[in-house]
Amino acid sequence: MLNIVGLNEYAALANGTIHCWLCQKGVTTRALFCHHCGTIQPVRELDHFARLGIERRLDIDMEHLEHQYAALSRTLDPQRFLIRGIGERGYAAKQIEALNAAYDTLSEPLKRGRYWLSLHSQESGKATEPHPVIKELRSDLDRAAEPAQCDRVAHKAGHALEQGIMGLMQALRGQDWPRANAQLHELDGLEHILGAVRVKRAELVPAGKGS
Ligand SMILES: [Zn+2]
Repeated sequence: MLNIVGLNEYAALANGTIHCWLCQKGVTTRALFCHHCGTIQPVRELDHFARLGIERRLDIDMEHLEHQYAALSRTLDPQRFLIRGIGERGYAAKQIEALNAAYDTLSEPLKRGRYWLSLHSQESGKATEPHPVIKELRSDLDRAAEPAQCDRVAHKAGHALEQGIMGLMQALRGQDWPRANAQLHELDGLEHILGAVRVKRAELVPAGKGS
């Protein structure tokens, strides 16, 4: 399957390198709790998919993602660690942080697409010529003298963003990395414009008059 990267998170276990911080017995990279003493473990190096216990693929099952996130959030609920020592409470808090970061990235298509590209070590980071659409929107925004004109730019940019995310996903599915990179640059430009529109619109609307 094209959209699945080979799993390697068990490599560390095979090497026998990970041990419970309390009882020193072997634990898996993915284990939140030690199988021997039941103690919560520190945050280990895991990719976001493994942290949420879902298959590593670009097109994720959102329902499954939500389910896993909810279940893990309950498991790591700070209330459950109130009577534990400060070390365990600290590890639980760090685990929740890592869980939230993973969920935040995977639940948003654009962040997930960027992350997918980075997993494949294909992010070029090279700045290219701004996309024609970006140039056009930027000059529209420069000329905008009323909130309604800002709204039109925002609408166009929002639409282009939606299209761009679809294009990005298509490129990633086809493992067309150069196109995916170009799409990401365009999406960055669009997000930048949407931010600039908000700033300009706020300046054009007199304070206290609302939207
Ligand atoms: Zn243990």
